Amino acid sequence: MTMRVAVIGGGMAGLSAAYTLLQVKGDVPLHVTLFEADERAGGKVKTTPFAGVPVDEGPDAFITRQPWAMELSRKLGLADEFVVPDTGKTHLWTRGRLRSLPTGLVQGVPTDAVAVAKSGILSLPGLLRAGLDLVLPAQALPDDPTVAEVIGSRFGREMVERLVEPLVGGIFAGRASHLSLAMTAPQLAQAARQQRSLLYSLLQLRKQAQPATASGPAFLSFRQGLGYLPERLFDAMKGELDVRLNTRVQAVTRLENGNYRVSCVDGSEVIVDGVIVAVPAWVAKEVVRALTPAVAAELAQIAYASVIVATLGYRPEAVPGPLQGNGFLVPRVDKRLMTACTWMSSKWEHLRRATDLVIVRCSVGRYLDERGWHISDKALVARLQRELEASMGVREWPVEVRVSRWERAFPQYDAGHRARVVRIERLLNETPGVLLAGAAYHGAGVPACVRDGEQAALKLWQHLSSKQGAETAPSR
Ligand SMILES: Cc1cc2nc3c(=O)[nH]c(=O)nc-3n(C[C@H](O)[C@H](O)[C@H](O)COP(=O)(O)OP(=O)(O)OC[C@H]3O[C@@H](n4cnc5c(N)ncnc54)[C@H](O)[C@@H]3O)c2cc1C
Repeated sequence: MTMRVAVIGGGMAGLSAAYTLLQVKGDVPLHVTLFEADERAGGKVKTTPFAGVPVDEGPDAFITRQPWAMELSRKLGLADEFVVPDTGKTHLWTRGRLRSLPTGLVQGVPTDAVAVAKSGILSLPGLLRAGLDLVLPAQALPDDPTVAEVIGSRFGREMVERLVEPLVGGIFAGRASHLSLAMTAPQLAQAARQQRSLLYSLLQLRKQAQPATASGPAFLSFRQGLGYLPERLFDAMKGELDVRLNTRVQAVTRLENGNYRVSCVDGSEVIVDGVIVAVPAWVAKEVVRALTPAVAAELAQIAYASVIVATLGYRPEAVPGPLQGNGFLVPRVDKRLMTACTWMSSKWEHLRRATDLVIVRCSVGRYLDERGWHISDKALVARLQRELEASMGVREWPVEVRVSRWERAFPQYDAGHRARVVRIERLLNETPGVLLAGAAYHGAGVPACVRDGEQAALKLWQHLSSKQGAETAPSR
């Protein structure tokens, strides 16, 4: 008998789940239906033409230290098409100008006092406070401390606000005072428990760290943009996958025989043996509410940050250059609209070659900062233009503009997140064959989403195999 499975959400997690199911099923008859609300698969991994060249609207690279996106790309035969970003400097726009990040950072925390002093990122009192780490007594930490609790208690608030939050929090568009250190910077969390002085622990970590060059490039993407990955993954499943684009799932409910009904907003429905729900937590909570209100209640507690990415193309004469580096981050404490600016033309050689325009991507918005959402695209670009003039001396208006709004895009891994995910997974034991996957749970980067989809698929496959075994086993 053919088993049936639904994958809800065609972002990286959902696509990777569907792909894994089709890989592991072998000759076993398994019908996989992918429901995607949008007209395309890929979710936040999206590349569209900008000034005639493919430029990402969401992520523009994946990290290789977590190997899962790289391995998936290899499986799909895409390894020859990787491109590597130029490893230029990153800057901070703070205390009145662009300043190079100090050398010797370990997961966003400095270990070289002279480099920090030279960077001018901290004031003199801020520097002196950071030095107190060497003499302060050990501090008791809660089970799952926040970034600010740990780094702030050792190095002081200024270090958190001006350096650590933009770097560690920036990846999640989050707040150091809320984010769990263990979830966002696990090495730091470990180091914080090792010795009285955090600096000493970090120096040890730094010694053990492999030089990036020894282990290959730290980040990868594709000449066609990162959207090439979901595109090719989707293509690889053509003919085997039952795809329902433009189909928004409303709810999953359980039938008396233990199967599940997947109901869509357009009135269509399917009955399946198992479901992988690979949508953001704020959507998943609605989808599973009737099935498991307890899980829905936990999902409702996962907060999200909305971000806007403005891609701007300038005539080369407008930008004082050459740009040396990958761009800059802006600490929240400086109260700018922009949270980061990536110098795409300087970061990606293939973009430099493809167009004379200087392309930059400005990010706006982070957790509890929604100012960009209350103004029009036009007003947003005008504000960004003023900030680019103040930071980089950009003199003219951009000749190409694209604004991508990502509402509730970044899940916040607040203190207590890991325990919440454990509770959710325990509660899901009550609904065998229903799994959650995606950025909201074990990691928000593309590689972590790929892996989460794979893991959900493997667990579901195990469940289906034992279910089928039980159904076909001879009765005694
Ligand atoms: C601006 C930006 C920059 C980023 N930069 C990086 C980076 O450089 N590197 C990196 O590794 N990560 C980065 N990330 C994070 C990463 O892109 C995401 O966390 C990841 O792609 C999320 O994948 P996902 O499958 O969990 O969710 P999504 O991509 O959100 O996919 C969920 C899918 O579900 C669909 N859906 C929603 N509701 C329903 C419904 N009811 N029924 C059916 N379908 C539904 C959506 O349309 C979507 O396609 C970035 C994210 C953003 C927004």
